[in-house]
Amino acid sequence: MAFSLYVHIPYCHAKCPYCDFNSHAASSWPEADYTKALITEMRQRSGEFPWRGDRIKTIFFGGGTPSLFDPQSIAEIIATAEAIFGIGSDAEITLEANPGTVEAGKMAGFRTSGVNRISIGAQSFNPAILKFLGRIHSADETRAAARAVHRAGFTRFNLDLIFAVPGQTVGGLLYDIDQVAALEPDHISAYNLTFEEGTAFFADLKRGRIRALPEDDQAAMYATVREELPRRGYPMYEISNYAPSGHEARHNLTYWRAESYLGLGAGAHSFASTGRGGRRWWNERGPARYIELATDTGSAEVGGEMIGHRAAMSEFVFLNLRLRRGFALREFHARFGEEFGVAFAAVGPRLIEDQLLIADDGCVFLSDRGLEIADSVFAEFV
Ligand code: SF4
Repeated sequence: MAFSLYVHIPYCHAKCPYCDFNSHAASSWPEADYTKALITEMRQRSGEFPWRGDRIKTIFFGGGTPSLFDPQSIAEIIATAEAIFGIGSDAEITLEANPGTVEAGKMAGFRTSGVNRISIGAQSFNPAILKFLGRIHSADETRAAARAVHRAGFTRFNLDLIFAVPGQTVGGLLYDIDQVAALEPDHISAYNLTFEEGTAFFADLKRGRIRALPEDDQAAMYATVREELPRRGYPMYEISNYAPSGHEARHNLTYWRAESYLGLGAGAHSFASTGRGGRRWWNERGPARYIELATDTGSAEVGGEMIGHRAAMSEFVFLNLRLRRGFALREFHARFGEEFGVAFAAVGPRLIEDQLLIADDGCVFLSDRGLEIADSVFAEFV
């Protein structure tokens, strides 16, 4: 089985107040040492189950801001992955970028390095919203970055939007939707702003310095996104993701289908599926300590857990239910040797009866109402 490779680059120019990723503000970064650590870790992992002898089907450079790195470093990592594992000829290789001018100037270099898909965090085109979100780029810089992506010859190109930002209106969101579609990405991700513990926004919320939009307003904005992006040629295929058929983010499909992925870098998580169960582990989060550990020993793993049969079935269900088409009952049975309706006899039929789930043509998926309260539906399977 081919697998997916995730490579985490943890540095950013500044830390956004809503961000709960393992990202660290830095004005300079030990790029050569970090790249060497990634490569050492990759070599060490290459002899292990389940990737030993398997090829790579997708690579995702995420962060942080991977576009801070020189295209040469990215090329070195891709070339090593090719030498160690082999990369499928149709592999999707994505790199996340921020819309700064320096990054825009590197797009041709990233293309040459082997990257064939770019994902840019536009977030909004409204200067006040960008400022509130602590973004250091302007809407014009996003437009310039999109032009650079097209000019460099990328046909796979995602733009991220954030909605339900305090102060935002549905009219303002419609403006963002128009602006993002005008830049002709082949894929759009649209995320409801959340206030995660540990972020600056979470602390601001607790102290009453900011207020989240009322839940009804948030629901209205999500409904706007679900209606308006398909009208502009971007059908919804996952809770937060929109793209025409054939342009889905293949790397992320690995996560939503609960398939194996190898994560390299500071704080990266990995999952090795054994079919009916699996193992998950994670790396040291601090970039400096990660470099030490990975360089010295080839492993920066600091924790892990076995995923038993029951937990694997739960994960499979709530991850696949994120997809608009859900999952095939036949696929569930083939993977776990049990019928979905038997394994989740206490939950599945009730959710179908409550019209939160739909069972149709051998598949199970969220109804429109289920979509609106997806997290509560998922919680039923945990
Ligand atoms: S640029 Fe992205 S990864 Fe970096 S702090 Fe902002 S949201 Fe987080």
